[in-house]
Amino acid sequence: MLEVRNLTKVYDDGTVALRDVSFSVEDGEFLVIIGLSGSGKSTLLRCINRLIEPTGGSVLWDGRDVTAQKQEGLRETRRRIGMIFQHFNLVRRSSVLTNVLSGRLGYVNPWTSLIHRFPAEDRARAVRALDRVGMREIANKRADELSGGQQQRVGIARALMQEPAMILADEPVASLDPATSEKVLSLLQQICREDGIPAIISLHQLDLARTFADRIVGLAGGEVVFDGPPDALDARQVARIYARDPQDVAEGASAAPNISV
Ligand code: ADP
Repeated sequence: MLEVRNLTKVYDDGTVALRDVSFSVEDGEFLVIIGLSGSGKSTLLRCINRLIEPTGGSVLWDGRDVTAQKQEGLRETRRRIGMIFQHFNLVRRSSVLTNVLSGRLGYVNPWTSLIHRFPAEDRARAVRALDRVGMREIANKRADELSGGQQQRVGIARALMQEPAMILADEPVASLDPATSEKVLSLLQQICREDGIPAIISLHQLDLARTFADRIVGLAGGEVVFDGPPDALDARQVARIYARDPQDVAEGASAAPNISV
């Protein structure tokens, strides 16, 4: 289980991105974080694996205090977390296979990776990962020849190379069209279910959150304003999550017009 306790992040310029954020994620849970742009989703995900250092609070994972870990412990934690990004972060001029193999970098000798001579075992692992995301046939294509949906599948395969014990995905479908978004989220959900691993996924689209989440955490202005199953999220709570400023909430204004409840 992952427990986020009273997490706070104040950036150097004084921006308070997270205020006293607490929630927990059960093993195998597909947790979706929703909120407007700027509500703190990305900061929250990056504080969990300390790509961003939190200013206060703690993150406990299976009893270990990630926030207190020193270099070696933190490296081990990061190895166990597969990260998926909005813009895929692939090496565009490299092949699909090489991109997937790079997910193994934390494990292999840097020299080995530099000359692109990965052990046969890793290559077999990469082919298996590509198989799982339906991309085996195009293992030798260059990443920049792929559609957005295909690139994100490669991003997922790369994360699988770490044999992750948890997935963090920061707006993984924000650059994709609606039909492709559904397919990619469905694939991610299926993989997490098969492997029994928890996932924390940030999304800004409420309809996708409702379709895929086991549980939703709603952020507004860096604070948790909702934590519960999708069917517990009512119109008032949606309005709170998507209110542009606190005044809107006080006046009971409805959510932004293009957000269906
Ligand atoms: P989201 O992912 O929901 O769009 P972010 O976590 O990116 O939200 O941002 C939360 C808040 O922190 C925003 O007000 C944003 O402008 C601010 N912020 C993000 N990164 C930095 C930074 N490096 N320095 C200062 N403020 C930042």
